[in-house]
This record gives sequence, C-alpha cells and structure tokens, in this order.
Amino acid sequence: MTFYDLVIVGGGPAGVGTAYQLRESGLAVKLLEAAGQVGGRTKSVTLPGGAANAGAQFVYVGTRTHELVEELGLDTIPFEPRTYGIAYKGVTSVGCTNDEVVSGLPLTDGESAELLRLLDDSVNEYATVTAGGVFTDRAEGLASITVAERLEGLSPRVREIVATAIRAGAVGEASEIIAQYALRYFASYPAHETRNRRVLIDGMQSVVLAMAERLDPGAISTSASVTKVEFDPIRAVYTVTAVTPEGETEFEGREVLLAVPAPLIEAIVPRLPEWKKVALDAASTPGNTTMVIAADVSDVPEHRDWGMVTTVGHRFDCILNSTPGRWRSADEPGIVHYMCYANQAGYQPNVPGNRVAEEEWLEDFLSVAPALRGRIRGHHIQTWQHCFALLGLERADALSEIRRPVDGLHFAGDWSSTTAGSHGAFVEADRVAADVVGGRGL
Ligand SMILES: Cc1cc2nc3c(=O)[nH]c(=O)nc-3n(C[C@H](O)[C@H](O)[C@H](O)COP(=O)(O)OP(=O)(O)OC[C@H]3O[C@@H](n4cnc5c(N)ncnc54)[C@H](O)[C@@H]3O)c2cc1C
Repeated sequence: MTFYDLVIVGGGPAGVGTAYQLRESGLAVKLLEAAGQVGGRTKSVTLPGGAANAGAQFVYVGTRTHELVEELGLDTIPFEPRTYGIAYKGVTSVGCTNDEVVSGLPLTDGESAELLRLLDDSVNEYATVTAGGVFTDRAEGLASITVAERLEGLSPRVREIVATAIRAGAVGEASEIIAQYALRYFASYPAHETRNRRVLIDGMQSVVLAMAERLDPGAISTSASVTKVEFDPIRAVYTVTAVTPEGETEFEGREVLLAVPAPLIEAIVPRLPEWKKVALDAASTPGNTTMVIAADVSDVPEHRDWGMVTTVGHRFDCILNSTPGRWRSADEPGIVHYMCYANQAGYQPNVPGNRVAEEEWLEDFLSVAPALRGRIRGHHIQTWQHCFALLGLERADALSEIRRPVDGLHFAGDWSSTTAGSHGAFVEADRVAADVVGGRGL
C-alpha cells in the first residue's frame, strides 16, 4: 500500500485547492473524491449556449477565487445587471429603478411605499459600506448583527417579499445571517452592482478542473467515496477507507484533510473529541435545489436584460441571469441561461430525474416568465444536501475551534472560512497547505 504524507477527502475547491498549493512541496498527496469528477459545488454542465453552472455562479472580484482565476489564465466576463425584478401574485415586474419595480406590483399604496423605502435604504446602505464593489471598514459594524430587525414592523405582504429577496440573494433566513453578508448578496442586486462579480466563460468548475490538471497524474482518485478515517496510535498513521469501483480500498497517510461539508465529517471520523463535534455542529450548510434553464429569447429580447428576479411564493426564490444584456455564447446568439435558486425548497433528492416533478418546476418557471413558453432549449435540475455555508453569528464565534486540527487531522471548507463561497474554501486551502508544510519544517 502506498503511504502518503497527506490524504485529502473531498475534491471541491478546498480539497483540490490544498493539493494545488502543495504541488511543488515534494510531499506525496492523494485526493479522494466521491463523485466522478472534481469540482464539488462548483459543478458545471453543458446546455445549449455552453457551460451552465449548476451550483456556484460568480467569481467575486478581489477574492482568492479571482486571484486563482487570473493565475490559471481563465476567461471571465463581468456581471452587469441593469435591471432588478420581483414576481409576486402572478405579476412579474422588472425595471431599472426600485420605483419602476415596485410600482408594477399588485400592492396597496401603503405597501408599495414601505417596500420602496426598504429597497432604497438597503441600496443606500450598500453604497455607504462599499467602494468599487468591495466592503470598506465601514461595513465592520454589520458583522455582529443580523438583518432580522429590518423585517420587524413591516406589513405581512411586504415582509414576505423582503424575506424572499434576502433568502434569494443571501441563501439564509434574515434571522440567521449577518447584515454584512446579507448586503453583499442581496442589496447588491437592487443596487445594480456591476463591479463585484465575474462569470467564468467555461463555467465555475473550470477553476477546480484547471488546478487538477496541474497536479501529478494519479494524485486524484475520483469515484472514491471515503467511509472511514481511523488512527493507529502505535504507527502514528491514518487509514482512510474508500469505496471505489475496485471495491473497498485503503489508503495510508501521516495526515488527513477533511474537505467535505462539515455535517458529513462525524460519520467518516467517528472518534472526534467532544469540543470538535460541538464546533462542527455550528457550521450548518442548509440544502438547496437549483434549476438552470437555457432558453432562446432572440425574439423576446427584453428577457436578455433580466438580471435578478426575486420570485415570491414559487418553488424557488429567484431567477438569475448571470450574463444580462448578452447572449450566453457568441457562437449561439439568442440563448440565455436562467438559474433558479430554491433555497426555501431545500434538498429535494426526488426531483432531479423525475419527469413529472421536473415538469412541475419548469411550469413554475414559466408562470414567472410566460413569454418563454416554447422557447426552452434545455434544463438541468440539481439538488444539494449541503449547499451554502451560511455565515451566522454561531459559526463566526466557533471558527477557531472549527479550524483547529485534531492531531494530524485537518479541517477545511467554505464552512471553516470567515466568508463562505469558493473564495472562502480556497483561503482555507491555503491555510491548511501552509500548516502541513509548516508542521514539517519544509
Ligand atoms: C447553488 C450554489 C450557489 C453558489 N454560488 C456561489 C458563487 O456564486 N460564488 C462562489 O464563490 N461560491 C458559490 N457557492 C459556494 C461554493 O460552491 C462552495 O463554497 C464551494 O464549492 C465549497 O468548496 P468545498 O471544497 O468546501 O466543498 P464542496 O464544493 O462541497 O466539495 C466537497 C467535495 O467533497 C466530496 N465528498 C463528499 N463526501 C465525500 C466522501 N465521503 N468521500 C470523498 N469525497 C466526498 C463531494 O463530492 C465534493 O466534491 C455556491 C454553491 C451552491 C450550491
């Protein structure tokens, strides 16, 4: 059996990022990934119009993901939304100003005034705490409060719209997520922020795939689902057991990195100390289902300009076009990709591949965008048991314990970062790679 310096469990940004950082360290590294490909939640699929993201959408400017994309020479285009929209009670109102959006909705005058005030306040606050699309020191105070109080006192219908808009943009419930995070992911849409997000032409997975290509052949085994990590104190060696196409296979390593969503770790490493279990419990990653649709909108061009539409009372919370104002690919004019985020629907293992259920989801989409009936050219539904590592106060408080190694076991993922997203996972990859190298005095 080959002996490795480090066995990495999980081939998402955290796992592959760590292997990539260690590629010239001289250490023997083995990465085991359960799926048939590396990428994790950055998975991209092919639809008419080219690569379509089934999970992560954007490269946030100025983050570690952005640096890596440039280092790897991958092509991106900016996300440049000119519109924002809300679909409510059978009416889809898309406009260039908050006023236009709100005035098109079936609300009373009092409700419209309330909703407009909240959207305008959020946009103003976003402008106050950012510069060039990136947070400044003025955003610090927002890291210790949630946005729940902003919903207090709102009339029920306005609260329903705002709660959906926050969940759509920031994935979590208003009571769970810190205000800084909510502003970044929610308010930036009605603010028409054009400077903080970029889209990878070949899909979000291309970052992880490009890193994997730069590793030694054989460094990665896909279709290798790790079931157990056990420590032998006499030999000071970890045995990692994985189910592979060849059957149950064991790998030995001096150190192990757990780079899978936090809730999966306890089942793989049963004998963790109590403090570690408590810390991992603070890193919740709620489920989500996504549906990406490729539609030919060449003869309904206003649909090309859709950016983010918050969808209230549907299976999903929003429809996002990450290339507004453009066709998805210059080679296939007319095609636009619409991503529906279903944060409230959560994990739906029975939907993907179920024809009836998929039809219902498509019909739900068409009820928001009726002009696209007959124009859908392809779709993909994906469900995520562990979707997005929300940054709530509980996780923020537990971060140092979440990251603390247990002997030779390391822990990294978006859930151990100070942010979330692929950028958080890549920062964590850098940290673990430095720890592994530092621990050996290399
Ligand atoms: C719908 C959605 C939208 C998102 N939007 C963005 C965005 O716009 N920008 C952004 O930067 N990020 C976004 N993200 C988040 C981003 O995808 C994640 O933060 C990132 O992928 C986390 O990386 P990770 O390596 O920690 O975990 P993952 O990507 O989840 O990788 C973990 C890997 O471990 C594997 N695994 C699990 N169990 C085992 C096992 N037992 N044995 C072996 N392997 C195992 C999994 O198959 C997976 O490949 C989004 C995610 C989703 C789902």
